[in-house]
Amino acid sequence: MNEETASKAPTALILFGPPGSGKGTQAKLLREALQVPHISTGDMLRERIALGDPLGRQVQGLMQAGRLVPDEVANRLVDERIARPDCASGFILDGYPRTIPQAEVLGRRLEEYGFEMVVIHLKVDYTIIIKRIAGRRQCPVCGTLYSLNSNPPKSENVCDHDGATLVIREDDQEDVIRERLEAYDRQTRPLLEFFAGAGFSPREVDAGLDGPEAILARIGGLLGKG
Ligand code: AMP
Repeated sequence: MNEETASKAPTALILFGPPGSGKGTQAKLLREALQVPHISTGDMLRERIALGDPLGRQVQGLMQAGRLVPDEVANRLVDERIARPDCASGFILDGYPRTIPQAEVLGRRLEEYGFEMVVIHLKVDYTIIIKRIAGRRQCPVCGTLYSLNSNPPKSENVCDHDGATLVIREDDQEDVIRERLEAYDRQTRPLLEFFAGAGFSPREVDAGLDGPEAILARIGGLLGKG
């Protein structure tokens, strides 16, 4: 993605799609390209679980079961995060909003702050997702995601950036993946129509095949046209 594309980047970029569609991977690439913060509610919640604070203890069971945490929890995390100065020139949202009430809260907040909203929909077939998540590994220190098939670490099971041993997320077990896909169908997918109805038609990207860089280029093309 060139600088011209980056300078035209939308202010609040929402990466939307089912679990395993590559939102986290694309968000990290876009963060580098656009030089804006990457906000992942999933990562923020996992940090709180690792800390073992009251919020972490509240959400741990839900997350391990592949269910969504309460809207108020997700809304509060994002509200606090986007109010910080480093978000003033834009940010990337990954995994939020996931329900219509969350989208309503976010929409009001973005309007209040004067952010433009652009929704990118990463489309992937569920059979590909299940295979993809089964091969997924994450660095517990920096959060980098690897795929044993398409994007393995340079040394087996070790993070390229900090040498930490990679882990399988608890909610990446197959039965939990199915539950997460169901939660997506029931609670999150309806947002596509909601966004369109609110005048923010999602821009679709085929994210099923090809590597992360090729998908990033497709997103860059869409943003360039924006
Ligand atoms: P992710 O890493 O985005 O796939 O999120 C992992 C898990 O965190 C989800 O399965 C939910 O349990 C929880 N979570 C993350 N973001 C949200 C959100 N916006 N609303 C509700 N639950 C969330």
